[in-house]
Amino acid sequence: MLILVLNCGSSSVKFAVLDPQSSEVPLSGLIERIGTAEATTTFKRGREKQQAALPGGTYEAAFEAINSALIALGLRDQVRAVGHRAVHGGAVFSGSARITPAVLAAIRACVPLAPLHNPANIAGIEAAQAAFPTLPQVAVFDTAFHQTMPPVAFRYAVPEGWYTQHGVRKYGFHGTSHEYVAQEAAKMLGQPLAELNLVTAHLGNGCSATAVQGGKSIDSSMGLTPLEGLVMGSRSGDVDPGLHDYIARQAGLTLTQVTSALNKESGLLGLSGLTNDMRELEEAAARGHPGAKLAVDIFVYRLAKTIAALAVPLERLDALVFTGGIGENSATIRAATLGRLKLLGFQVDETANQQAVRGHGGPITTPGSPPALVVNTNEELMIARETLRIVSGE
Ligand code: AMP
Repeated sequence: MLILVLNCGSSSVKFAVLDPQSSEVPLSGLIERIGTAEATTTFKRGREKQQAALPGGTYEAAFEAINSALIALGLRDQVRAVGHRAVHGGAVFSGSARITPAVLAAIRACVPLAPLHNPANIAGIEAAQAAFPTLPQVAVFDTAFHQTMPPVAFRYAVPEGWYTQHGVRKYGFHGTSHEYVAQEAAKMLGQPLAELNLVTAHLGNGCSATAVQGGKSIDSSMGLTPLEGLVMGSRSGDVDPGLHDYIARQAGLTLTQVTSALNKESGLLGLSGLTNDMRELEEAAARGHPGAKLAVDIFVYRLAKTIAALAVPLERLDALVFTGGIGENSATIRAATLGRLKLLGFQVDETANQQAVRGHGGPITTPGSPPALVVNTNEELMIARETLRIVSGE
């Protein structure tokens, strides 16, 4: 039995067909530049990759192409349900939900909170419903895992009406990844998740860290939007809220332009003046590029401070988990971060840290240190499992 997992962006669809029990992926792929005449499909089967143009270039054409590939491979009959990655579920969704007209309306009501992401998710859901009318569809929200945060963590110190009338609060993101790696970390440590206090650091193009107590999120670095918190590829993370008005007046920008610059021209890219890509920055820093070195240093400094801050609500830190493209692959960033966390007693095991790359996770600290672990995230598998759980529970 297979689940079709879809991650629909404004101009792309990432998909995987997974067996939620064995975690095998008989087909996966990416459809890019949707909405343009240059739309392409890339289908992956094992090591085999096939690229083709997508005539029409619409969401509908994308799903037709996925459907045809499934039929051609004899997989279509095994697909039991469709699982969607949904970005913002507001305060409405504290778990995954089978998509009904009411659920779709609730996702639509969250559009003002995620104006870039939720409309693409909705377009993807509607196109998938048309292409696979007999399959149940499930939404798995990035925010749902964080709905266990207490008000002391999720409220901002702003006028109460902003919260009660407009939903201004922290929601947290990357929930599927934080939840998955917390579960995997418990297995790695051989301890029940219910007894563990963890900080999970998801470090990819977007970055967030979460305090996970007994498998539940109790605080997280991202907020109302995925712009708050850590330094990211092109996102600023935390800045003084007074900055917006100041720079708008000084540089003659609108509020929308300021927000766009904080999302797209800041973070590692803004600091280095070079790139949002950590691997390239590490190489440039090693060659002595001052902007790259500063960007890496600030990334690590802010990350370490956030991890230490998230240990406060946990009261005791049993393990720190690194995941995401940077967390899983960059021994340099992990070592530098642990080096800045001596306050919490971390000591890196250099050999283990160097070996924990490219899909080989594990502990990277010395026996005397609290454990820091590298865990490979698998959001598609988590979405497939959630989808199966929802459809079989009904
Ligand atoms: P993700 O969004 O999870 O795919 O992560 C993307 C980020 O991971 C980019 O900044 C990449 O440069 C970074 N990354 C991937 N591999 C490495 C590596 N070997 N060393 C450093 N950064 C890496």
